[in-house]
Amino acid sequence: MSLISQDFRLNKQQPKARGPIRLRWALLAIAGAGIGAVIASTNTETKNDELAADTLPTFKAVTKSSEQLARESFSLSLPELQAQQEILDDANNLSPKQWREYKVKSGDNLARLFKRASIKPQQLDELMKSGDEAKKLTKIFPKDIIRILTDDEGTLQALRYDIDHKSYLMVERENGTLVAKTFNHEIETRNAHASGVIESSLYLAAQEAGISQNIIMELANVFGWDIDFALDIRKGDSFTVLYEELYRNGEKISDGDILAAEFINDGNAYRAVRYTNPQTNVSEYYTPDGKSMRKAFLRTPVNFSRISSRFTVSRYHPVLHKVRSHKGVDYAAKSGTPIYAAGDGKVIFKGKKGGYGKVMIVQHGSKYTTLYAHLKTYNRKLRVGSKVKQGQTIAYVGQTGLATGPHLHYEFRVNGVHRNPLTVKLPASKPVPKRYMADFELSTTPKFAQLDLLARTQQVALAETEVGN
Ligand SMILES: [Zn+2]
Repeated sequence: MSLISQDFRLNKQQPKARGPIRLRWALLAIAGAGIGAVIASTNTETKNDELAADTLPTFKAVTKSSEQLARESFSLSLPELQAQQEILDDANNLSPKQWREYKVKSGDNLARLFKRASIKPQQLDELMKSGDEAKKLTKIFPKDIIRILTDDEGTLQALRYDIDHKSYLMVERENGTLVAKTFNHEIETRNAHASGVIESSLYLAAQEAGISQNIIMELANVFGWDIDFALDIRKGDSFTVLYEELYRNGEKISDGDILAAEFINDGNAYRAVRYTNPQTNVSEYYTPDGKSMRKAFLRTPVNFSRISSRFTVSRYHPVLHKVRSHKGVDYAAKSGTPIYAAGDGKVIFKGKKGGYGKVMIVQHGSKYTTLYAHLKTYNRKLRVGSKVKQGQTIAYVGQTGLATGPHLHYEFRVNGVHRNPLTVKLPASKPVPKRYMADFELSTTPKFAQLDLLARTQQVALAETEVGN
């Protein structure tokens, strides 16, 4: 495996910064079209009349996560895959003609697939005993391709399965015994860039610039703390993005990460660059002077239908029939709606508190605490002392305690003092540590220089278009 592909793997494991909640809804709309096209429904029931399903282990096709679906939308078409397969098979000294190809169907499992391939069921047992690597076959997905090689008697000689873009499983008969091994593809990372001007929507501008939905969603995630992509986007806004593309055997298989980007919104330019902390290996986006693009807190910890009560120093309490101050914000939402931790922190209270009903309090560093009340239930894994990550589901909306309907009562305290969660100035996440600033500048200066160049090129192109008109 090359250094590049190892680097890729590290990057992929980094936690993604969460944008504000409202942004996420806008992005869902952007993503909808693309994801809709590749969703494969999964039949979770296995009929017993199929083969000896009850005597054999069943390996069901499972539903893919949205991330997998998003990735899949960039995967290759079948002819492309076949062409690629031939190249790989040549490399493996196997004649491509000998392979038979089977596509995993919705609700499929390996037993059914073997039946279609007319392979004796006992060989499935043998296959599963061919090594730990073969366990990967217990998680096959609809539309996955499994290639099978048999001899004239129908005995399984080899099986090949693409686990993901990066690796594949190869089971081969060696001296009469099936042996399973995983191989990694060489992944090459190439840099790409694109620019666009928004005429009607960010989505269309991205399409015109030839960039994928993945990249545009990432772009919106990076800038989502400064720009409200549902409300703030103006005609004439523009963007430039430098990003990675991943190639295998000379063919593009997917987009990688955004390296640097600029977004001009309503005349204000925002810039971000990806930087990996050399010590923690965590990658995040920063401003040119090393400040985090991310805020330490989500503005809104729930996807709400409306704000049913705002922060006031005095208001009439509908249940207590008294004038009282309201030291938080009420977000009306359906019962059971997930509530997210507003920031990284530690659970310091979980339990009932009078009229608040079920409550959770999270401490963030020494200065901040957030309180979530009228909860229906908690995330069962959390207890007092548990660490939580920003955006993690900590509880669910309910109406326990004194509440007229399901809603989240949310409080934000700074040094013990209640502040209005809707207007309080939210602190930024940690900047680049001082000791890495020199390294940060060294690694990011060329990227900003490239952004400058691209931005200038775009301005020239725009000016020419205007002259042309
Ligand atoms: Zn309230």
